[in-house]
Amino acid sequence: MDNMKLANLLFPDVNLTPEDLELKYPPRELPEGARVTRFAPSPTGYLHIGGLFGALTDVLVAKASKGVSYLRIEDTDKKREVEDGVSAIINGLHAFGVDFDEGVTGFGTEKGDYGPYTQSQRVEIYHTVAKRMVENGLAYPCFCTADELTALREQQEAEGALIRGYFGKYAKCRDLSLAQIEANLAAGKPWVLRFRSQGDENKRISFEDLIRGKIEMPENIIDEVLLKSDGIPTYHFAHVCDDHFMRTTHVIRGEEWLSSVPKHIAMFKACGYKVPKYVHTAQVMKLDDESGDKRKLSKRKDPEAAVSFFVEKGFPKEAVIDYLLTLLNSNFEDWRRANPDADAMDFPFNLKKMGASGCLFDLTKLTDVSKNVISRMKAPAIYERVAAWARDYAPDYYAVFTRDPAFSTAILNIDREVPKPRKDIAKWDEVADYLSYFFDEPEADPALLPERVSPADAKAILSCCCAHYEPNEDKDAWFARMKSWCPELGFCPEVKEFKKNPDAFKGHVGDLSSVIRLAVTGRTNTPDLCTIMQLLGKQRVAQRLQRFAEKLS
Ligand code: GLU
Repeated sequence: MDNMKLANLLFPDVNLTPEDLELKYPPRELPEGARVTRFAPSPTGYLHIGGLFGALTDVLVAKASKGVSYLRIEDTDKKREVEDGVSAIINGLHAFGVDFDEGVTGFGTEKGDYGPYTQSQRVEIYHTVAKRMVENGLAYPCFCTADELTALREQQEAEGALIRGYFGKYAKCRDLSLAQIEANLAAGKPWVLRFRSQGDENKRISFEDLIRGKIEMPENIIDEVLLKSDGIPTYHFAHVCDDHFMRTTHVIRGEEWLSSVPKHIAMFKACGYKVPKYVHTAQVMKLDDESGDKRKLSKRKDPEAAVSFFVEKGFPKEAVIDYLLTLLNSNFEDWRRANPDADAMDFPFNLKKMGASGCLFDLTKLTDVSKNVISRMKAPAIYERVAAWARDYAPDYYAVFTRDPAFSTAILNIDREVPKPRKDIAKWDEVADYLSYFFDEPEADPALLPERVSPADAKAILSCCCAHYEPNEDKDAWFARMKSWCPELGFCPEVKEFKKNPDAFKGHVGDLSSVIRLAVTGRTNTPDLCTIMQLLGKQRVAQRLQRFAEKLS
């Protein structure tokens, strides 16, 4: 077979050589030990939480080694692609502050010297490498039709063949003569380019996965498709070309690709390229509500599978990232405790601390992490976040919340500048309800009165407060004032004393504040009541006290 002739016949328009590409994309000049990683999603319409998990790993692994991370869009499967798929990825990453050093930055924009970073724009590169493989006798055109391939599958099934696919005696086009190929091409028959595997089914390969250790598998013997009939590469071939010419050192990807490693290694070797280091990360799982079993997070069943869910609910990005890092690296929580205010992107990520088995995504734990994160934020920062979130996801509330920024910020500041701030907000979509009594008249429910306080006593408390409330007093003075009302109302000013002699009183000072709290806020549990009343002002407080008193009549 005249391979040079065949190569020219198949790729008449390819003028570049792999040597040209080597010069155009030289090895990167980076310090010893620097890692080059990439996040390589397909634009299928949304960013999966597992994708964010992978992207974060890529960025932190590169950063911790003073290397480079980049974003490559793998859009070779046009059937799975959706419009705006790239924007969903870019926006998803951006919303969580996961930024790459290089690669695609937006629709039609990118940065870096190793591009283009979108596979559909790299066809010339794939064809250049493919042509050289044909020249070297390591690839050949296959004209088998879909029907022929189906027949082959059925034959292998019927024979109970242990290895299935296009190889050896089944590979009908592997040994076509040049004359046959020329005739097929002249007849306009569609063709795919196949890898001419050199593998031996009796041999095994071994490689080191950086989180799974040494792995051994049978050599690849399948003549995999490299280029589809439209000239677009398969994932396998594009992976080899791209990770070589983008000079990736560490391929970090989902464990679903683990079984493909033998073919990838065979292809890297056939091209004469250094095999990158592989890291196959565990899937993000959840406990199925019904069966209680661990299963993959699925877009169809689990809204939290798409990162947009966290944006829409208003989880702060820091909370999502911190939570993902607790799942990703076993030493993250210790680091966070030692560095409570540090940027998570400065976490010294260690691949060795990554688990190989599927990690459980737990919304309840994320909620706890988020409450902690928000409890550490200052009121003006929370105001900005809530306003930005509401502008996009709750426009009616946006108008209410931003009408008086100083008022909203002051509300958010209640019980915040203290050694142990409250941990009661987990996400921005809770804020409207949490603060509702500042903006709407509350509907206090008499059933929520403390058990030992009768409606008549509650009314007496409310009217006493109405008559004697002084909004300019601080917390201590306010509490002293409530105590001063106790004897007349038949309540005990000291809780301890009440406990010693409960039958002597109707209740204690705490009951007064419970009744007033209920009238003013409609709730039994709120941040500091004294500050709430000051922010509402004397008149609104009085109206609410009266309104509730009337309800009790
Ligand atoms: N485009 C592939 C995917 O979305 C990427 C796998 C890889 O990182 O190599 O699954």
